[in-house]
Parts: sequence; C-alpha cells; structure tokens
Amino acid sequence: MRGAVIHAPGDVRFETVDDAKILKPTDAVIRTAVTCVCGSDLWPYRGAEPTERAHPMGHEYVGFVEEVGSEVTAVKPGQFVVGSFATSDNTCANCRNGFQSSCLNREFMSTCQAEYVRIPNAQGTLVATEEIPGEEFWPGLLAVSDVMGTGWWAADAAEVKPGSTAVVVGDGAVGLCAVIAAREMGAERIIAMSRHESRQKLAREFGATDLVTERGEEGVARIKEMTGGIGADSVLECVGTAQAMQQALRSARPGGNVGFVGVPHGVAVDGQELFFSHVALRGGPAPVRRYLPGLIDRVLTGGIEPGRVFDLTLPLDQVAEGYKAMDERRAIKTLLKP
Ligand SMILES: [Zn+2]
Repeated sequence: MRGAVIHAPGDVRFETVDDAKILKPTDAVIRTAVTCVCGSDLWPYRGAEPTERAHPMGHEYVGFVEEVGSEVTAVKPGQFVVGSFATSDNTCANCRNGFQSSCLNREFMSTCQAEYVRIPNAQGTLVATEEIPGEEFWPGLLAVSDVMGTGWWAADAAEVKPGSTAVVVGDGAVGLCAVIAAREMGAERIIAMSRHESRQKLAREFGATDLVTERGEEGVARIKEMTGGIGADSVLECVGTAQAMQQALRSARPGGNVGFVGVPHGVAVDGQELFFSHVALRGGPAPVRRYLPGLIDRVLTGGIEPGRVFDLTLPLDQVAEGYKAMDERRAIKTLLKP
C-alpha cells in the first residue's frame, strides 16, 4: 500500500509503506475513506520538531472496517467508523473518568495519511455509524476525529456556559471548531481573534459575534475593553505558542477559565502571575473518544458543519502539495482522498 512519509523538513513523499495489518488481537484495519493534514503536522514539516529518520504521517481518519482482531467485537468489517487520534481501551480508570486520551493503554495514531490504517485498541476507540453516511458527511466526521473534538475540549475545559463570553485565540481549524463548540454550549458572545479575512468569515459563520485583529498586549487590551475591563469568562487557547498562551491567560477574568489545546511549544507559565490572576487553567490532548457519539450525531443531523474547515481537497497521492499549501497559509486545512 502507499502512504505519506516525512523524510526531512519540507520533504513529504507519497510512497510504498508497510501494509497495515492486524498485529494484536485488539487491532482493526480500516480502508481510509478520507484523511487530512493537521496543523500539528506542520511542526515537523517546518523543522520545529526534529525528524531523525523517515516516518509515516497522519493521525486523523474515518474509514471502512476491513478486518478486526479476535478480541474486537464492537465493530465489524464493512462498517463506517470514526476514531480519535489517541486510541484508548475505554475501560481503564482514566477512560472511565472520561480522559481516554490518557488511557493506560493509549497509542497515538501516526500512520493515517495512507490507503489503509491499523487501529490499535479498536474495541474502545472506534465508533461505527448506524448506516454508511453519505460522502457529504465524511469531511465533518473526519473533523470530529481531531479538530472538532479538540475544539470541543477547549470549550469544555474553559467551562463555556450559556450566556457567557468566550474568547477564542487562534483561527486555525481547531480555533474555528472551538467557535462552533462555544456556540453549541450557549456562549452569548464569542470573540474570535483572527486577522485573516477568509478565516474571519468562517468564524462569523460558525457563530463568532466579534472579531479582534490585535495580538499580544494590544489584543489583551482590546478584550478587556470589550468585557467591562475585567476579561472574558472563558478563553480557548488553540495555538500552542508562548504568545498565544500569555494572551489567553491575560484575557480571562479573575475566576475565569482558560482551556488550552494547542500543543505547547516553548510555553512557560509564570507561577506568580497565574496565582494572582485567579484564572483556572486546564488543557491537554483532547479526550475525543468521550465526545465522539455526541459529535457524530451533531454532524449527521446537520447541527454542526465542522467539515467546512477543509478549504482544499486533493487526491491522497498529492499529499506533499497539501502540506505545502498549509505551510504557505494558502489553505486552512487539506482534505485528502485516497
Ligand atoms: Zn483506557
């Protein structure tokens, strides 16, 4: 089979890779329906994370079950399934507490930009739809496997409540999905921090009521100005840089909450500042599995359309161009079709 392999920064190739096969009785193999490039794939692509040896890429997927291991009874061949970028048994203590992305048997997905994918912990990870969904739903369901689940977690971790004010830092796919989540959770005012026209437009359509184009201290000042001088109830940090985190912490009101879901790179939080801010901070890899049934339902009933974050669709064999377009910010997110 063929799949995407990164050889060095800026060098992603579509080439022959090892066939996906059942290695453990808890595995399944799926045939990819659609997959995509994640903002976090750009960290190694841009050399911000080292690539010591060539390795496959991709952690977002929806597909058709091809084969299951002997211990997998929850899904069967032919079904359409959605999973998470972090696999989980869904039975250990952490899973039972709703933190499946900290499953004691967790394995992160890393080979999904390929024609077939091996899914570890298939029993606890995969959720089958009742019927095979129409192709128009595939992008939305694919978004649920990572960016929409992560945006939901940002809003959940930041404790967005009906009638509240939420600020979303970051206008990438996760930030845009976080706007959807804040709206679904009933935030009355949703302030999206974005300076890119196409992303602002989508943020508006997803439910943002206000846009702030300033960044850093100017951005914080603008948020304060808009919130009676005290800051927002909830701030959803969807970037992962030091500047974004600082902006998020300083935009929240005393007693407010910051949900941080951007994978931190070079982020350090000052203890004294956090102490005196009275802001609660919670984040981490999203427990997507906890949200899957609900989010799949919202997509299939048309309640949310997170698939609209894909603004470039390419055949899977043009995956290299998919990375390039995102790196050059020509695309928010690239959908790949085998
Ligand atoms: Zn577990």
